[in-house]
Amino acid sequence: MFDDRSKGYKNQFVPLDPIDVDLYKPFVGQKIIDELKWLAAPLENKVWANVNSTCVGGGVAEMLQSIIPFAKGLGVDCRWFVIEGSDEFFVVTKKFHNLLQGVDQPISMEEIFHAYLDTLHENTHKTTIVGHMVTVHDPQPAAMLMSGNIYGHILWRCHIDTSQASRRIWRFLVPYINHYHGAIFTSPEFVKSDLQIPTYEINPCIDPLKQKNKQYKREEALSILSDLFNEHNVDSDRPIVAAVSRYDIHKNQKRIIQAFKLMKENIPSKIKPLLIMIGNSASDDPEGAAMYQTILDEVGGDKDIHTWVNVENNNEVVGALMNVATCFVHVSTKEGFGLVVSEAMWQGTPVIGSRIGGIKKQVINGQTGYIVEPSDVDKIAKRMKTLLENKLEREQMGKNGIEHVRENFLLPNLIKRYVILMRYYLEIDNKLPEFRMNDLAYKEIMSALYGRTVWPITSDHLKKRLEAIWDGLR
Ligand code: UDP
Repeated sequence: MFDDRSKGYKNQFVPLDPIDVDLYKPFVGQKIIDELKWLAAPLENKVWANVNSTCVGGGVAEMLQSIIPFAKGLGVDCRWFVIEGSDEFFVVTKKFHNLLQGVDQPISMEEIFHAYLDTLHENTHKTTIVGHMVTVHDPQPAAMLMSGNIYGHILWRCHIDTSQASRRIWRFLVPYINHYHGAIFTSPEFVKSDLQIPTYEINPCIDPLKQKNKQYKREEALSILSDLFNEHNVDSDRPIVAAVSRYDIHKNQKRIIQAFKLMKENIPSKIKPLLIMIGNSASDDPEGAAMYQTILDEVGGDKDIHTWVNVENNNEVVGALMNVATCFVHVSTKEGFGLVVSEAMWQGTPVIGSRIGGIKKQVINGQTGYIVEPSDVDKIAKRMKTLLENKLEREQMGKNGIEHVRENFLLPNLIKRYVILMRYYLEIDNKLPEFRMNDLAYKEIMSALYGRTVWPITSDHLKKRLEAIWDGLR
């Protein structure tokens, strides 16, 4: 059931063709596309390389599948390199992921040195990565930087909510990260104070041209779902509460099930809601299968709850389910962003989301859905009930959600920030990007002293010491 669908692509550049960026005009308007073309003109044939650890499953792979063709469509030579790792490697990097999201668990020196560092060492000795800008995604490939086989302006793109990162793992990673030319986070609250490199804020995004994000008419969506619904005896007239995500501890799927069961006890019997959960496995996530079993235990044979894994025609089915759902629930305990939230809102469906990391950037409480505490099963149940019972409210929220996504979370918005970064690092622009999160004190001092670019720091005490030196020199 949990197969590795990325086999055959590993340890190589994933080949993707350019796309005509004008196709995005109907979604974001002509102005932003023209502006992007203008911004990208000096970047023609410049290389932007991306490095991550899986080409299928999870939000990063999902986004890169759209980012690469779009950037190529703008003339940038955008590449995608997927590192290769053994099962052991992915067990350790999953631990990194969990520890960075604040879940404590044992990790040994053997795992760090053998499974993690040796694997990255092997990867860098098989391939040299060169780019005018190189974006290294998440902790899996983060330490590759030190093997000396990546060249260019190298940025670490962190997709994880690191606000509560375990000190153990952070202290191991931070010396590597501090060797990058910059780091990109989804939210300022994820940035730790001991990062001494430039930091930037970029929202993840969804691609409106993807099959999954096609804004279906209800009949169209129902016809896509018909085989699956027939197979599982789903009555499409019943209102659907939907949830889509990897089966993972942080996705908090058990509480969604608990809240749904509680809500059923308190809603008029004629409403008869169903809960449909869809999940898949990422090839870099070894915990999925075990997690799925605990979800089945929680369902306990309840016939109103469906939990499906790796569905056929995944993209069409996911989009169609989000479209026909009465409400969508995503109440993770940790979440770097949660693309599914924007995907569901783009389908015009209100979202019950947790007051966590990237989710609270997307759900505007009372306008595009509701914000709840991830542990508050009672509240999640109440919000499900409210949305199931109030058609007018959920229709208005659905409309608001579409506009909120259009303005903030569509692919061209994200590309614009990367293009601006590339222009900045290639010194086409000297102006600091507006989405830069830290200041310039150190750079100003060091440029003045040595006449060259040195990147700024955020540490207060170092800044004070440098300011004192600067004062003394004046
Ligand atoms: N997804 C999917 N099928 C599934 C489960 C998830 O296509 O069965 C997609 C989902 O639509 C989204 C991505 O995988 O595009 C998950 O991204 P998200 O940021 O929500 O979570 P992550 O897995 O990166 O933590």
